[in-house]
Amino acid sequence: MPKEGFKSITVSDYIYDRFQEVYNGNKEALATKGVRSLSGYVSYMLEEAMNRDETFARYAPKIESISVEDDRVILKDNLQNRIVEIVLQKGELHCFLCDAADCIHVGYVYSMPDVYTALDAKGMGRRPD
Ligand SMILES: [Zn+2]
Repeated sequence: MPKEGFKSITVSDYIYDRFQEVYNGNKEALATKGVRSLSGYVSYMLEEAMNRDETFARYAPKIESISVEDDRVILKDNLQNRIVEIVLQKGELHCFLCDAADCIHVGYVYSMPDVYTALDAKGMGRRPD
């Protein structure tokens, strides 16, 4: 039985092993984010995925992705009816329409699953806060 305030779920060996492997390989970096156990790591990842999905769903009707290249994303902003270019510059996403690194277009790009995966591979999947 899990302790009070917790529930247990069952995952396949495959998923368990994947999480275990990444957790073991990143224990120190994760500890600085307050993640100190495998279940803490799984919770952290689930919450991150949930937040990204919510951001994505919130913007989805207003902003559409036109094309995704290695270090450039083209969006269409349906509210302003403008094409938006977001470029990866000096390790940061920059929106040319807003001339900003923290506008809704950049937020949208961070929440796009394929871009997130690409950025994560470069070690910058986390939005700076
Ligand atoms: Zn923008």
